[in-house]
Amino acid sequence: MASDDCLFCRIARGQIPADVVRETDQTVAFRDIEPQAPVHVLVIPRTHHEDLTQLVDADPTFAGSLMRDVAVVAKKLGLQQYRTVLNTGAEAGQSVFHVHAHVLGGRAMTWPPG
Ligand code: 5GP
Ligand code: ZN
Repeated sequence: MASDDCLFCRIARGQIPADVVRETDQTVAFRDIEPQAPVHVLVIPRTHHEDLTQLVDADPTFAGSLMRDVAVVAKKLGLQQYRTVLNTGAEAGQSVFHVHAHVLGGRAMTWPPG
């Protein structure tokens, strides 16, 4: 997908407004527009990869950096306990095909998910 057509590429470039909580030269973290918990943030790479599988194929080292940024964002938001979710594929619940880690916290959560 051309990045002009990708919602999260456009958010990363500042072309669509988002409630950004942290950004680096490699990643952007912003609040989910439809939060599923008191804190619900998405952490995305600035570069376009469709999903975790494609990211790991293209740049496995950076996949680790994305996880580091998840933990840094959680700490910045004061979360000591939180859930991290990466949906890969529509059947798994992915609806935006630019890899993103959900960071959810601020309430108790059950397992397994539905
Ligand atoms: P997925 O279902 O792909 O794992 O997660 C996509 C997430 O992106 C959903 O939780 C959805 O609420 C969020 N989302 C979709 N469009 C926008 C948007 O324009 N802005 C923000 N901040 N979040 C969005
Ligand atoms: Zn993208």
